[in-house]
Amino acid sequence: MTPLAYSAIPVAGAAFLAWAVRGRASSVFGPSVWHGPRDRRAIALTFDDGPSESTPRILDVLARHDVPATFFQCGGNVERLPGIAREVAAAGHVIGNHSHTHPYLFTRSPAAIELDLRRAQETIATCTGIRPVWFRAPFGARWFGLGRALNRLELVGVMWTAIGYDWSLKADAVVEHLAARVSNGAILCLHDGRELHPRPDIGVTVEALRKLVPMLLDQGYMFETVNRLLCPMT
Ligand SMILES: [Zn+2]
Repeated sequence: MTPLAYSAIPVAGAAFLAWAVRGRASSVFGPSVWHGPRDRRAIALTFDDGPSESTPRILDVLARHDVPATFFQCGGNVERLPGIAREVAAAGHVIGNHSHTHPYLFTRSPAAIELDLRRAQETIATCTGIRPVWFRAPFGARWFGLGRALNRLELVGVMWTAIGYDWSLKADAVVEHLAARVSNGAILCLHDGRELHPRPDIGVTVEALRKLVPMLLDQGYMFETVNRLLCPMT
């Protein structure tokens, strides 16, 4: 299917396209992982849209329970707060690429998609010394050209098993929503920022995390980075 074919897609095709762009298990626009192996009681916490001024509050909660996580950072936020991006790396967490400007990739040209991802990749590498190997699409939306850009930048797409809706729900509802969907190998998605907005309010995420982490530890789950969850032999 080419971009030109899109305008001719009938209703059933439009439903397929919606799934292809947003569906967590869709690999139409490039492969992406949304779940780890189910034979180990291990899960991965992931945070999108950082770093923000409030990211250290998340780091505090993770440090208190000695659990690692994966942060899909926006290049634009890393440029604004390089010290906090480095703090995330120094605490032993994995940094992934979440684009530079947090655009909707939907309808963007392949060249524009690759340029945005490349800017983030370079910015993160320059500021933290880490070159990400994982990519999470802004808004979870993928599009033509993304697969090629990921190949060229040697990135692997990662979606999620469950997302916390921590930008709209109250903390208890976030905990309840995720706790009901967690299982071996789950990749959970929360947010330590809000796209490129400075000083975002992530109080709900912090409060939810304070409850969720000890609850899942009590249930016997191990927290792992995406690297370890998806490549346990490394
Ligand atoms: Zn995002």
